[in-house]
Amino acid sequence: MRCPFCKEDDDKVIDSRASSDGFAIRRRRECLGCGRRFTTYERIEESPLRVIKKDGGREPFERRKILLGLIKACEKRPIPIAELEAITERIENRVLEEYDSEVPVQYIGELVMRELKDVDQVAYVRFASVYREFKDINEFMDELKGMLGGVPGLRGKRAAGKKKAAKKKARRAPGKKGGRKS
Ligand SMILES: [Zn+2]
Repeated sequence: MRCPFCKEDDDKVIDSRASSDGFAIRRRRECLGCGRRFTTYERIEESPLRVIKKDGGREPFERRKILLGLIKACEKRPIPIAELEAITERIENRVLEEYDSEVPVQYIGELVMRELKDVDQVAYVRFASVYREFKDINEFMDELKGMLGGVPGLRGKRAAGKKKAAKKKARRAPGKKGGRKS
């Protein structure tokens, strides 16, 4: 490490300890040229991953932005923040697995939509309508229709009720041979 006083590139470490937050190592060094002391910090490298925006611009990848987007989409919905944090973590891990240096914002958006689709339909539509920037109401309705078609919960029956019914059927099945009516 080059000495900040005399620029000599020769020093010895005289003390080494963790910083108060535990995320850095603080080293006290003594220059062997001028004898003065200075301090260096060693930290984990921040994620160098960058996001390619729609206009082609780049910005640092920040997991916080994913979480904030989720929170916004789930406003007033009965979804625990812990679940949103778990989703954020899954998305971040996936992104870091797939991309080393630059990730298109569209990829992140698709991951968010995929997660929200399973969690909350309202949040999903909110996010999708902002994210996909539907050109007109028809495009939006098509998306909505496609979605509602696959969601029995929105046609009067709750998904949980359905699951229970399936269990009941399974319990009944062994004692009931060939007597099932449709
Ligand atoms: Zn020096």
